[in-house]
Amino acid sequence: MGYVRCLQCVKCGGIVEDGHAVLTCPKCGDEGILDVIYDYESIAHGVSRESFARTGEASMWRYMPFLPVDPAWARPPLRVGWTPLYDARHLARALGAGTVFVKDEGVNPTASLKDRASAIAATRANAAGRRIVACASTGNAASSLAGCASSMGLRSCIFVPRRAPRGKLMQLLIYGATVVSVNGCYHDAFSLSAAAIRKWGWYNRNAAINPYLVEGKKTVSFEICEQLGWEVPHWVVVSVGDGCTIAGVYKGFYDFHRVGLIPRIPRILGVQAAGCQPLVQAFASGEPFRPSPEDTIADSIAVGVPRNPTKALNAVRRSGGTMIAVRDEDILDAMRLLGATTGVFTEPAGAASLAGLIAAFEKGCIGRNEAVVVIATGNGLKDIANAERAAPASIEVGPCLEDLEEKLKARAEDLVAGDLVLQGE
Ligand SMILES: *Cc1c(COP(=O)(O)O)cnc(C)c1O
Ligand SMILES: [Zn+2]
Repeated sequence: MGYVRCLQCVKCGGIVEDGHAVLTCPKCGDEGILDVIYDYESIAHGVSRESFARTGEASMWRYMPFLPVDPAWARPPLRVGWTPLYDARHLARALGAGTVFVKDEGVNPTASLKDRASAIAATRANAAGRRIVACASTGNAASSLAGCASSMGLRSCIFVPRRAPRGKLMQLLIYGATVVSVNGCYHDAFSLSAAAIRKWGWYNRNAAINPYLVEGKKTVSFEICEQLGWEVPHWVVVSVGDGCTIAGVYKGFYDFHRVGLIPRIPRILGVQAAGCQPLVQAFASGEPFRPSPEDTIADSIAVGVPRNPTKALNAVRRSGGTMIAVRDEDILDAMRLLGATTGVFTEPAGAASLAGLIAAFEKGCIGRNEAVVVIATGNGLKDIANAERAAPASIEVGPCLEDLEEKLKARAEDLVAGDLVLQGE
């Protein structure tokens, strides 16, 4: 099917045949996460820097030769991917930096990068004749799978920890998912979903366990290459929970490098929250990660037991990148700064990447003159409660101009100096 050659276990290196039945390495179990290996020589014959635009697809499907999907299979009709990459000049100026791009994943159909993975999951589930898809999720994988499933007429059963933000929960329910709210942390929701999936044989869209999901996520990097006119940035910054997203970011650049479309792979900066940073610590110590409490407002990366640690750490190391942890206050500051300088409103896990970039500038890990792409992984409207913590206060007035003037002056706002254009009229 397509150009997939086989699957390879990231733990023991064993080769597994591609197919609908197997998800993890039979020898290593849940830790035997598989990597999808392609016939790159054949792919290279059929693609060029110009060939993707010729597909006419303004979506992730413009990269079909690199995806574990048969072109003849039915796919979700939702438009996933081909999200904008903004040259964020005002943000760069505020940071005293040269070139900062922002990849806005919040404009995907269910408003996060997870749609790139869920579109693959729904496509493969449907092709395998499955009718019920399931996963556990901190929120976005859930709402994304539910949306992609409903768009193809599939049922979904979703397990979320009780703390999931209401916006994400409402998406699930509106998309018609059967929602199981687990009184426990993400780890508990994951374990229960795994047991239920085993018992009832639903299609498993669990992060990491399903090796095809990372393959969807990698399209974000393909787009970055094309959208930058094939100028590879020095750094790409992304937040890390289970580690599938960062693994996908690396895989995209790896694939394009393998077939000769780009001359090198950018360094990747992985960002976690200070209150839940098992992979940052594992990266620094070189030891296996230790399970961590999930103590952060950034719910999408509050993953105390990451499911894809090997692929994630390989991605950072092989790219010559690094990892960094940021405090919740810095995430909220970054959310406000991003919104106020780019017009992109992202949830805390999405703003963690910018907070990480700022920390990396300060530590000197990234030079301010290097070209950086920051991935804003999800839309801010999903989590209004935390946005309220980041947002400045509005001005409360009676419907009266004098009152307004007084309040504006009290805040030392430059608004009362007037707008030049208006004054000149
Ligand atoms: C899932 C998610 C992440 C992290 O992805 P992992 O694969 O869990 O590392 C980051 N940001 C947002 C908005 C997410 O939904
Ligand atoms: Zn194995």
